[in-house]
Amino acid sequence: MTGKLFGTTGVRKLYGEGFTLDMALDLGKAVGTYLREGTILLARDARTTGKMVADSLCAGIVSTGVNVKRAGVIPTPTLAFLAKKLGLSAGIMVTASHNPPEYTGVKFWSGDSMGFTPDMEAEIERIYESKEFKVADWSSLGDISRIDNGAEIHIEELLKQCDVKKIRSKQYHVIVDPGNGAACVLTPYLMRELGCKVITINGQLDGHFPGRRSEPEEETLGDLIKLVKDTAANLGIAHDGDSDRVVFVTEKGEVVRGDRTIALFARNALGISRSKKIITTVDSSKVLDEVVSEVGGSTERTPVGDIQVAVKIKETDAVLGGEACGVFIFPEFHLAPEPFLAACKILEMMAESDRSFGDLISEIPIYPLKKTKLAVPNDKKATVMNALTESLPKALGDVKEVLTVDGLGISLTQGWVLVRPSGTEPVIRITCEAPTVEIVEDILERAKKEVESIIGDS
Ligand code: MG
Repeated sequence: MTGKLFGTTGVRKLYGEGFTLDMALDLGKAVGTYLREGTILLARDARTTGKMVADSLCAGIVSTGVNVKRAGVIPTPTLAFLAKKLGLSAGIMVTASHNPPEYTGVKFWSGDSMGFTPDMEAEIERIYESKEFKVADWSSLGDISRIDNGAEIHIEELLKQCDVKKIRSKQYHVIVDPGNGAACVLTPYLMRELGCKVITINGQLDGHFPGRRSEPEEETLGDLIKLVKDTAANLGIAHDGDSDRVVFVTEKGEVVRGDRTIALFARNALGISRSKKIITTVDSSKVLDEVVSEVGGSTERTPVGDIQVAVKIKETDAVLGGEACGVFIFPEFHLAPEPFLAACKILEMMAESDRSFGDLISEIPIYPLKKTKLAVPNDKKATVMNALTESLPKALGDVKEVLTVDGLGISLTQGWVLVRPSGTEPVIRITCEAPTVEIVEDILERAKKEVESIIGDS
C-alpha cells in the first residue's frame, strides 16, 4: 500500500469528505505531469458524482498539455481494453467500484491494459502532494475528443475469443443483473450477440443503486437467484458498480464463489497451455490449489487486488489469474479483469460439454468459508495488526505456518485464517476456511474474540 491517497486499487473515498473536486483537479494535473505527453482515455461508472469528477480530472489533465479522449459510461475492463487497443498512453476510470453510492474514486490503467502498479501510484501521489505540476500555456493545452462506441468495440473483440457458433446453437436463457452499474451498457448486448434469450434486472444506469447493494454476493443477489429459478434460466450473471467483478449463478440458483470458477477455468486451460501457473490472492480457497495441482499446475498467491494478480501474471507468464470475489484475468486477451470473457467461457464450456453450469461446477468441491468484519478506525489499523501478529497465532494454537504476504494469514492443522485491514473502509476483515462447518465456526469465533480484544486494548 502506498500513502494516504491510494488504497488497494486506486483512490476510493467518501465524496465531500475524503474526496473533493479540488482533489480531482489536482489528481488530473498530477497524472498529466507524470505522463508529460500522449492521450489518456477517460471514462466513468454511473455514480451521481461521476461526470463532475471526470470533468475536473479532464480539466487538470489538459492543463498539463496531455490529451483526453472521453468514453462516457463504460465498464472498467472496457476502458482498460480500449486504452490498449487504441494505443493510448493510459486509461483513467472514475469509479468507487463496489462501494456504496456516496463513495467516489479513480483507477489508473497503463496503455498495456494493466493497472498502475503501487510504485506508479506512489509517484503520482508524490507529484500530487508536491503540487509541482507541469503547466501548458494557452496554445499548447491538451485536446479533448470523444469515443462513443467503446462497448461495441469491446463486444466485437470478445466475440473473436470464443466459439460463437457453438454457443449460439444452444440458445441459452440468461438473466443479467448489472446492479444499475456500468455493465448495463455491455453484458446484455454481449449475451444477445451470443444468441441468448436475455432478461435484465437492475438494468438502467443509476448511481443511487436502487436495486441492490453494488457488491455482488449471495446476500445481495436474492432477486437474481429467484428469477433464474422461476424462469428456468441456464445462467445468472451479476456485476459490481464498475463491472470489473462478475458472479455467476447456476441454473439451480447457487451463487458460485469466484475461486471455484477459477478452478473450473484452470482445469480447462491447463491441459492445453504451455504455462502451468495460476495466480490468485491470499483469500482464495485451498480447493483451487488442490484442483490446479491435480491437473499438473501450480498456484501462486499475491496480496488482495486485481493489479497485484496482474503484476504476478506478467512476472510468471501465468495462464490465468483471479480473485475469489469475482475477478478473472485472461492474459492472452489482456491484463485487466475480464468478467465478460469469463461469461463467454462459461457458456462455451456448457455448449462444448452439453452440460449445465451447475453440473460442471459440482465437480469443484466446496470447503466451508466464513467471514466477518470488525470496525476499526483507519489510524488504528497498523497498531492492531502489529499486536495480532504476536497474539493471534498463540490464541489459535495448532499453527502450521504464518504468512504475511498481505495481512496476517495463519495456516492451521485444519483450515486457515486470514486477518486483513480493508484498503478502502475502516474495518478489519477476518476470513476462515476449514473442512467442516463446525471447525470453521470455531476458528472464526476464536479469531474474532482475539481481534476484538486487541481492538479494545488499542
Ligand atoms: Mg469493481
